[in-house]
Amino acid sequence: MNNVLEYLEHSAALYPDKMAFADETTRCTYRELLEQARITGSGLAGRVQPGKPVPVLMEKSVSAVTLFMGIVYAGCFYAMLDAKQPAARLQQILKTLECDLIVSSRSYLAELGKLDFQGEAVFYEDLVQGVADETLLEGIRRQALDIDPLYGIFTSGSTGIPKGVVVSHRSVIDFMEHFTDLFGITGEDVIGNQAPFDFDVSVKDIYSTLKTGATMQIIPRRMFSFPTQLLDYLCEREVTTLIWAVSALCIITTLNGFDYKIPPKISKVLFSGEVMPIRHLNKWREIYPEALFVNLYGPTEITCNCTYYKVDRELQPGGILPIGQAFPNEKVFLLGEDNRLITEPGEKGELCVSGTCLSLGYFNNREQTAKAFVQNPLNPYYQETIYLTGDLAYYNEDRELCFASRKDFQIKHMGQRIELGEVEAGIEALQEIRRVCCIFDEAAGKITAFYEGDIEKKEIVRQLRKTLPAYMIPGAFFRVDAMPLTKNGKIDRACLKSSIEGEQNGR
Ligand code: AMP
Repeated sequence: MNNVLEYLEHSAALYPDKMAFADETTRCTYRELLEQARITGSGLAGRVQPGKPVPVLMEKSVSAVTLFMGIVYAGCFYAMLDAKQPAARLQQILKTLECDLIVSSRSYLAELGKLDFQGEAVFYEDLVQGVADETLLEGIRRQALDIDPLYGIFTSGSTGIPKGVVVSHRSVIDFMEHFTDLFGITGEDVIGNQAPFDFDVSVKDIYSTLKTGATMQIIPRRMFSFPTQLLDYLCEREVTTLIWAVSALCIITTLNGFDYKIPPKISKVLFSGEVMPIRHLNKWREIYPEALFVNLYGPTEITCNCTYYKVDRELQPGGILPIGQAFPNEKVFLLGEDNRLITEPGEKGELCVSGTCLSLGYFNNREQTAKAFVQNPLNPYYQETIYLTGDLAYYNEDRELCFASRKDFQIKHMGQRIELGEVEAGIEALQEIRRVCCIFDEAAGKITAFYEGDIEKKEIVRQLRKTLPAYMIPGAFFRVDAMPLTKNGKIDRACLKSSIEGEQNGR
């Protein structure tokens, strides 16, 4: 198999009339998806060269999935853009992509108008009115390689310019083959999509669906602000499988959503993106004692996830939830200082990855690619590229991998090396704390803790003295009603950091 379209074609042959994708207002069967993707692909094929990126500016929807497949039929790769981002950032992305064509939807005319895009704008509604040109599509397919890019996802770059991670068909196929098998995802499942389509969690939703002939229910973004609507939707649409960002799961438990309703069919809950607070995990497990819970770890650059841990034991708040073991056909290892391989439990090192899962690097950015994708320093013999994740991890006594922190969340404070994650785990262990995030305030030289929970600062400090050394106890605490989140659903550290800076400037 060398192209993800084989997933679609296979499922369409087996289950032509089964519902493949649905959003709030639209649905399509596998047969319809296949037909419309081929029509869309034929319409694009004369306009863009195979191998080129095609930016997509529209709502996550059935149409967007159809368009993605159409772009792939045209031999190109898709890059979903989030219209809610500032126009200047979108502009940067379009500049990086160096593309002559953008596909949008008529309902996005206003958003499109805000962009200073010199190329051609094509509307999905027009493309899908065309006809399929089988000869043209076959010709394109004959040229296809499994190393061709399938999608591009833009992540924030430390230089201020977003980096476009480009992922090949081969990497997605390699990952999906194991992903669905390991977690028992089948054609019987209804996958409730939470993630935006410009975030790689959605890749797991889309390709698990296409591969197994399952159904994907696209949950409207706004419902994540209204848990009762969200829970109604999960019930109505008979969702069985959640592959969600940690924060999305926490929204339901923080707002006591299960007091309102318990969606009866959920049997698999897979989460990723940041450390899952154990208190929230335990609430979910109480509600679904029979369900499979999996902690998935990995950056976009290695195609979704490189390690997994199927939760198989009780964990106490403040304890450590492992990220587990490597997916098959992926090498995950820890490098210490001086490029030493770490094998002993408890010793921290940078988590590195090699294998078919490695993406093709950052689009149009050789410099950043060369910094993060490097020759394995442990292999002087032949070319073996590894990705340096920038995450610190260690093995526990059971040889399970555990996430420690980002390399950049490791601080030096009062001469001590401190992982902010350790401080957070200490605070999270307190009964009254719902969520916590620590930031190092370099200007003031102190650790600042932001927390959700009904507890006073004095009481937190009193309790922390029992578990953390004095130098790890934050010097400032701020209670927040709700943690600010990035659009990917992670705690927005930059926003918390700038609130500290704002305070300092106001002083
Ligand atoms: P992204 O590329 O947006 O998926 O972000 C990847 C980063 O999120 C990783 O490098 C980690 O720092 C963090 N991350 C992802 N999954 C987990 C997890 N299960 N536990 C802790 N951190 C995680």
